Amino acid sequence: MTRVKFLGTAGARYVMATQLRSSAGAYIEIKGKKIILDPGPGTLVRMAKSRPRINPSSVDAIILSHIHLDHTGDANAVLDAMTEGAKKRRGFLFAPSQCVKGRDKVVLDYLLSSVNTLILEPESSYSIGGVELETSLAHDHGVETYGIKFSLENGKLCFMVDTKFSPQVLSSYKDCRYIVMNVVLKECRDYVKHLCLEDVKTTAEKIKPERIIITHFGMGMLRAKPWELAEKLSRETEVNIRAASDGMQLNLD
Ligand SMILES: [Zn+2]
Repeated sequence: MTRVKFLGTAGARYVMATQLRSSAGAYIEIKGKKIILDPGPGTLVRMAKSRPRINPSSVDAIILSHIHLDHTGDANAVLDAMTEGAKKRRGFLFAPSQCVKGRDKVVLDYLLSSVNTLILEPESSYSIGGVELETSLAHDHGVETYGIKFSLENGKLCFMVDTKFSPQVLSSYKDCRYIVMNVVLKECRDYVKHLCLEDVKTTAEKIKPERIIITHFGMGMLRAKPWELAEKLSRETEVNIRAASDGMQLNLD
């Protein structure tokens, strides 16, 4: 069974700061493996409050797509809980080098030594005890950023995280059956390195995936009611497009 639970759906700084939507990450379960993608602020709390509760010490892997605070704010808290205060060496951490080395690193040393850390690189393959995943090409987001593509039995489940859209980015997701897109912007802005609503339409038309789920909303998206925008795009493109909400669970087989 594969399921995705959106612990949070906040995208832009203001939405995170006010917690109009939670900035917790996504909980993904594939073949019994438990994965947290992009644990932003509030992830540990949302895991504890989730029904059924998500026990951090049962999490197998944490994936950071990039260093930004809304994707990593709770990384140390979740890693500490997962390794029982670094007393137990267990689990995997996948992250771009920038997250774990150098001036901007976001993971504390005592935790890095208690988890198997794998450095994400562009278009590379990894495994979490039989669950295969690969990275997209490097996104255009100002910092080292990769989308994540999980191999399921019936196709690929892909997370097109923060990026400026381009034909190159799009083609990196052409083999995806399900695509989760971080749609911060309603109106596209050339100088902002984030996806906008028009990029969802382009993705639906060019790739024709079975399903697109939009999440990671900024204020403009929230004001315009993302569930209505998704419904309209579904009608226009004839692709099943849905807006995530906090706590929403997706069962994929
Ligand atoms: Zn970002």
